[in-house]
Amino acid sequence: MKNFDVAIDGPSGAGKSSLARRCAAELGLLYVDTGAIYRTVGLAARRLGLDCKDEQAVAALLPELEIGMGYENGEQRMFLNGEDVSREIRMPEISMCASDVSAHAVVRDFLMEMQRKLARENMVIMDGRDIGTVVLPDAKLKIYLTASAEARAERRMKELLAKGVETGFDEVLQDILRRDEQDMNREVAPLRQAEDAVRVDTTELDFDQSFELLCSIIRQRMEEEA
Ligand code: C5P
Repeated sequence: MKNFDVAIDGPSGAGKSSLARRCAAELGLLYVDTGAIYRTVGLAARRLGLDCKDEQAVAALLPELEIGMGYENGEQRMFLNGEDVSREIRMPEISMCASDVSAHAVVRDFLMEMQRKLARENMVIMDGRDIGTVVLPDAKLKIYLTASAEARAERRMKELLAKGVETGFDEVLQDILRRDEQDMNREVAPLRQAEDAVRVDTTELDFDQSFELLCSIIRQRMEEEA
């Protein structure tokens, strides 16, 4: 089969990454986490002490950036000027900065070709905020994956705890709400459900149920396209 791409969008903490990664492995597709790419730009800006909301300062940084992506044992790794930053970009303080830099058109344009090239050269499940609406408008399947903010905060807190990062529920919930608000209301490529996207709400589902549901939707579309 040629050119089968799945675009998954949705708010922070909806489980996009973990679900999409597992579905991709199950179905033989390449998983691309585009949030990790924005996080790498956010980290670069932060390391230099830049104000992530300052478009000009961030724009000036872009020509100096060498963002690399690779796969190790099926895991996506991110590199910043040759250094593996896959762990560091997950720190909670980088999340908001990633959201700040991602609101700048100059950053989105800079990263667009990288994402499209990955989809041209591979059959991908790509997740982000504007994949079905902007990056891959012709994706064979678009999914809008969501859950209530409370359910998302609960899951994100457990995920962070498992990584040894201790945070309170309220702090995680506030971070999620602030990022949703910013991602949905920005001028460039705001998060919204594409008209032709299938909406999947996992509020009442556990991980395995969400995985089965998502995978079955993708598998069915793959069979239709085969
Ligand atoms: O998906 P994740 O939460 O890791 O993404 C971090 C931030 O990057 C998001 O809050 C969002 O602002 C931004 N992002 C984006 N477009 C994408 C992926 C992520 O604007 N395609």
